Amino acid sequence: MKSSSWMLMKCIARFQASRASVGRLAVQCPQRLLHSLPYSHTSPVAATGEWQSVLIDEFTRCCCQRDLPGAMEAMVSMQKNKIWADPITYSELIKCCLARGAVQQGRLVHAHLFFRGHRPKTFLMNILISMYVKFGLLDDAQELFAEMPERNVVSWTTMIAAYANSRLNDKALECLILMLRDGVTPNMYTYSSVLRACLGLPILRQLHCSVIKIGLDSDVFVRSALIDTYSKWGELDNALHVFDEMVTGDLVVWNSIIAGFAQNTDGDEALHLFKSMKRAGFQADQSTITSVLRACTGLALLELGQQVHVLVLKYNQDLILNNALLDMYCKCGSLEDANFLFSRMSEKDVISWSTMIIGLAQNGFSLEALQLFKSMEVSGTKPNHITILGVLFACSHAGFIEDGQYYFQSMTKHFGLEPTREHYGCMVDLLGRAGKLDEAVKLIHEMECVPDAVTWRTLLGACRVHHNKDLAICAAKQILKLEPHDAGTYILLSNIYANSGRWDDVTEVRRAMKEQGVQKEPGCSWIEVNKQIHAFILGDKSHPQIGAINMELNQLIWRLKELGYVPDTHFVLQDLEGEQKEESLSYHSEKLAIVFGLMNFPREKAIRIRKNLRICGDCHVFAKLLAKMEGRTIVVRDPIRYHHFRNGVCSCRDYW
Ligand code: ZN
Ligand code: ZN
Repeated sequence: MKSSSWMLMKCIARFQASRASVGRLAVQCPQRLLHSLPYSHTSPVAATGEWQSVLIDEFTRCCCQRDLPGAMEAMVSMQKNKIWADPITYSELIKCCLARGAVQQGRLVHAHLFFRGHRPKTFLMNILISMYVKFGLLDDAQELFAEMPERNVVSWTTMIAAYANSRLNDKALECLILMLRDGVTPNMYTYSSVLRACLGLPILRQLHCSVIKIGLDSDVFVRSALIDTYSKWGELDNALHVFDEMVTGDLVVWNSIIAGFAQNTDGDEALHLFKSMKRAGFQADQSTITSVLRACTGLALLELGQQVHVLVLKYNQDLILNNALLDMYCKCGSLEDANFLFSRMSEKDVISWSTMIIGLAQNGFSLEALQLFKSMEVSGTKPNHITILGVLFACSHAGFIEDGQYYFQSMTKHFGLEPTREHYGCMVDLLGRAGKLDEAVKLIHEMECVPDAVTWRTLLGACRVHHNKDLAICAAKQILKLEPHDAGTYILLSNIYANSGRWDDVTEVRRAMKEQGVQKEPGCSWIEVNKQIHAFILGDKSHPQIGAINMELNQLIWRLKELGYVPDTHFVLQDLEGEQKEESLSYHSEKLAIVFGLMNFPREKAIRIRKNLRICGDCHVFAKLLAKMEGRTIVVRDPIRYHHFRNGVCSCRDYW
């Protein structure tokens, strides 16, 4: 790509020098060009007798009425008499061929237009190229393009867009280089296509420069394509820069920047921009709502998500929006809302079914998830990899070993789906939970693909629950080989060594951590109260109500102790630092967030917490007992799973 990038730079420079005197060139789009053309018989008509015009009239009538067989018949007669109709009629005929998927007829029109040395106008050739592209016949399009004597901006752009859509990114870029060499000015459509095909940041920067020099940087489509591409490469600062330069707003550009942040998991900024967009007087459309839902999903903002639901209602039964909404409800742990929405969706695709099955499974409703899978089979919707993942997750979650093994084997047999690393991971989890650690290790070795850190972490989780120190050390070492910056695993490994009195090994782990520059991430929990997010960090006393929260927490702990709660600081296989374990056990961020929820919510409202680290054993016991004592529902979403605490038990069945 280096050479192509260099060539592009040279060409842009040469091109800019050559067009300095040309002045501002008109921007053309295929549709506009087509409609601005005068309706005239521009092709040479061999004879002008009355019967010829009758033939042309008949042909035109058939084309206008979309009578394909009639038009083809008239075209054959015209060809025999060397008569051609006007280009607009042919463009109508080609549209008709495209609508019917009539490839053969399309080719006949092509042959007719070039019959006996006849040459159609450039714009008609462009329509033929675009016809081949739409039929997926890229070779034919390429051949015709190569034969064209005067290729204009539409011809080049059609080819570039075709390459970009077929993910032939090199070809698209090469085509732009040739276009510039030919002295043809790219327009906004050329740039929006070529930007999509952009292969890396250096080329993106050059394209951006050339956009500015050609004077297309204020164009909405180009701007939105630039923002999309910068976001795709994770360059959000640059994306925001392009956005901020915009003088007059446009919904397309707002959507690009909001989607950019939502896709790069910066939901806060996406929501902030969404608010600014509304203040600027723009109405959200489907694309905006999808991004906002994605942001709510990432941040587990149920209340805001419910508000967005109201916006979705406007787009009555839009499948993509409904699926995004369903995902948001599942990921925010509100299965009531998800079930309600799912039962009312008039149209459901494999994504809807899979989202609901996974949602049920992840939130601890395994039986319901498996029942739903059966309903899905009855409905005739074919499951995909993701669906089966949800089914296996449900089995492992509930300890249904035989069901899990049955579905794992049947995915290839019944549905023709090859198991991926994720499916193996679910099976390792299934066996690990049941204490069949040897079988889990055996399965890891049998995997067709190389196990990744997630697979080993699953095994480590099983070792933690079943107190298998040796295997835990083994799994932790594998994780650190793949992810040498994983603070949690280092601390866990060091704790295991410390508990076994292997002090040399403890020192070794500490040294490796220092060497790798591993930073410990403090525990942090978030809760949404009155549409405001409150964050609690371990040891941080900055929350304005921290005094009242601590007082309430101490009272609750005291009452819980009367009911038999013993703060547990002796979780052997734990990934918490010593001081975090003991001194500040009662100040763990999730405890503070739960108590804050308790103080602010009415009894019937579930307390929903999101946490950055795995919940610790003590907080898990605390939440279970508190849920029972106070008659509350507490939902904690950590990076691994969901915990629904109700009436003294957790949906994870104490396995996490
Ligand atoms: Zn804790
Ligand atoms: Zn739990």
